[in-house]
Amino acid sequence: MSAFWSTTALLPSGWAKNVRFKVADGLIASIETDVPAGSGDEIHQITLPGMANVHSHAFQRGMAGLAEHRGGNSNDNFWSWREVMYRFLDRLTPDDMGAIAAMAYAEMLETGYTHVGEFHYLHNDAAGRAYDDPAELAARIVAAAQATGIGLTLLPVFYAHSNFGGEAPNHGQRRFIKGVDGFAHLLDACRSLLSNGDQLGIAPHSLRAVTPDELSALIAMHPQGPIHIHAAEQQKEVHDSLAFSGKRPVEWLLDAAALDDRWCLIHATHMTDAETDALAASGAVAGLCPITEANLGDGIFPALRFLEAGGRIGIGTDSNVLIDPAQELRGLEYSQRLLHQARNVLASDTHPSVARRLFEETIAGGAQAMGIAPGLAVGHAADFVTLNSGHPALYGRHGDQLLDGWIFAARNSCIDTVWKRGRQLVSRGLHKDSAAVTARYLEVVEGIMAE
Ligand SMILES: [Zn+2]
Repeated sequence: MSAFWSTTALLPSGWAKNVRFKVADGLIASIETDVPAGSGDEIHQITLPGMANVHSHAFQRGMAGLAEHRGGNSNDNFWSWREVMYRFLDRLTPDDMGAIAAMAYAEMLETGYTHVGEFHYLHNDAAGRAYDDPAELAARIVAAAQATGIGLTLLPVFYAHSNFGGEAPNHGQRRFIKGVDGFAHLLDACRSLLSNGDQLGIAPHSLRAVTPDELSALIAMHPQGPIHIHAAEQQKEVHDSLAFSGKRPVEWLLDAAALDDRWCLIHATHMTDAETDALAASGAVAGLCPITEANLGDGIFPALRFLEAGGRIGIGTDSNVLIDPAQELRGLEYSQRLLHQARNVLASDTHPSVARRLFEETIAGGAQAMGIAPGLAVGHAADFVTLNSGHPALYGRHGDQLLDGWIFAARNSCIDTVWKRGRQLVSRGLHKDSAAVTARYLEVVEGIMAE
């Protein structure tokens, strides 16, 4: 049993002062407020629950920044970015992927994420052949999560087609492809890899990559736990969906898949008002990735309407072009300010602080999408983050001002320490294995860039 004491902490009931909590077997065993620190307590100033990153493709951290110059035409968009990603995959070995994932996960921990949903779609070798062990690459993801200490919801991806109507996959997609039977084996193999507190979900990649029959088979294969799918990220996807089924992607999912609180729709950018309201009412989470969506020029999520309709949101780092939950939340609010030409758009009557509102929404929605318990409460995992109260953006601030300072006013991270299941993983903003993880990552990048 260990004990932590904090001058202030954000609990499910709100900000509390002089907070002491005890941790046993990685779980919070008790919480007291307005009490002095005990002798031997680990003492901090500002304590927040750790954030869930609901959507990561870890390997893409290795190509961050490589797609930021104009290609052969002036029409760069998501689809031209995808070509760069496919070429990057021509070279990636299992060891490379493990090293890149470890780098991404260490950075996630350093910026305040304590759990990651890995939307894992790389299953085959560079020639498109299945490995002897179907979970060869999934095992590298699990190993990277275990080595860095981040919590994991592993979301093996089913990917079989290049477009609606079961079109044959293209050459660039050869490392992703599994049939329904192959996917069942992969799912079994993934289940046996996970450790205490980790979760297993499924991820039909998108309505482009999965036929309706295959989607039904996948859902039947995994009767409990999270289901994640990319939906309506791009206008082209909406047009192709309308041409195929007469319905838009979110509309089709609402009608055909009976969305509920097990589901997380990644992006859900392009929705009509009716889809927005219906998705909010379904209890599913919208997995928003504001940095990646801006980077790819996807469009702007209708966050104001969705949240007013009671919709649930989580945030994800997706392409991992830049990893930082504060910047994700800032980007989400700023997109709405630009769209509506107004300030403090995503504040609410109960939470006039934008940062507090978005932080609480994404703590709750993120945990739901990951299949874990949200926030600092007895019986929940002791996953928390402490902020540096001497940071210029936080100094002299109290309560919600601390979150507003972190999310809107800090040029660099305010994170001091990060703890997962009561174990310290980050000190003074640096992961405990930062030097070794970074050195290994640089070796891999050197190899890839030299080819
Ligand atoms: Zn994605």
